[in-house]
Amino acid sequence: MPIGLADARALLDGYPARPTVAAIGSHSALDIADGAVSEGLPSLVLAQAGREKTYARYFRTVRSPDGRRERGCVDDVWTYPKFADVTAPAEQAKLRAQGALLVPNRAFSSYVPLDAIEAEFRVPIVGSRHLLRIEERSERENYYALLERAKIPFPRALRSPEEIDRLVIVKLPHAQRRLERGFFTASSPEEYRTKSESLAKRGAIDPAELARARIEEYVLGPVFNFNFFCSPLAEPSDRLELLGVDERRESDLDGMVRLPAAQQLALSPSRQIPQYTVVGHGTLTVRESTLEGVFALGEKFVEESRRTAPPGIVGPFCLQTCLDQDGRPSVFDVAARIGGGTNVHLALGHPYGNALWRTPMSTGRRIALEIRRAIEQGRLSEIVT
Ligand code: AMP
Repeated sequence: MPIGLADARALLDGYPARPTVAAIGSHSALDIADGAVSEGLPSLVLAQAGREKTYARYFRTVRSPDGRRERGCVDDVWTYPKFADVTAPAEQAKLRAQGALLVPNRAFSSYVPLDAIEAEFRVPIVGSRHLLRIEERSERENYYALLERAKIPFPRALRSPEEIDRLVIVKLPHAQRRLERGFFTASSPEEYRTKSESLAKRGAIDPAELARARIEEYVLGPVFNFNFFCSPLAEPSDRLELLGVDERRESDLDGMVRLPAAQQLALSPSRQIPQYTVVGHGTLTVRESTLEGVFALGEKFVEESRRTAPPGIVGPFCLQTCLDQDGRPSVFDVAARIGGGTNVHLALGHPYGNALWRTPMSTGRRIALEIRRAIEQGRLSEIVT
């Protein structure tokens, strides 16, 4: 049985006045922890054994004798043999006893099975429990279906490699590193065949998965990850905020574009096919005349998310968007949770978030602010799923 809204709200019974903000220890956990302590809430990172040092050592909170935080932002770290162990009934009970509010990041929805998140994980989630699944391209009810219903433009899909008559990107998972991409581009059926054979030989893709791969138009233009926030506590006209924009650094694509053309061509044929492994992020703003269109995308997404899985988006979400030469957007990926690049404004805030809130406003801090306001207004149940 899926955990419904009433079930999630009931989990808050007996929660302390100062709940703990918890996140799985990877992806954007530092932003979440920093935001929590900036708003005076305790932070807890749920780490996998062997991957805890960032939180337990380098960013752990150090307090003065009178209890003030002097350094760091991670108040507590709990480690598990595997991330997915957080769903063990005894661990859930511990989290509830701690008064934990779980903020979902991509590490949570990748490492903890979605079935368990939706039906077994009885810990209140500040976010959108039943929208996390839309990120899985293999699902029928995925983000493309939602974008289509919302009338948000996204890259057109081709039915088969034989139809390739322009630059396309072929999307399938990496054969060995399952959470990474085995993407490649092609401009013709021949190029598709040559490249897919070469990548299969390299072990980067599994030929059996090609039939299920999505082949979509390649949108020529820079990529903007729009980090939005939707507040269920705000008036409808104020509920949508654009906090910041980041861009990814992908290896080895970004390394390749830093080479002069002659050196790119001198790479061995197999190295000429770039990989799309995210290794870092940078920060961006958009041309001001584009902003209203960006907000319109966010509004449509929020509206459709409410129809798809009530109460819809709660808190942060990210629309990964290419803008073409006319500023026209194409959304090619969606995160119905905190985006992967929000550490770009960790602690400092972002020009857009800061301009709105008149103080440094990162995504992590905005989440904690929402929690704090919900507590003050006696409306915590409205922001959990
Ligand atoms: P994704 O896994 O969908 O986030 O995509 C990984 C990377 O592939 C992005 O950061 C872009 O660089 C690129 N990409 C994905 N889809 C498209 C597209 N339709 N057009 C251009 N680039 C794309």
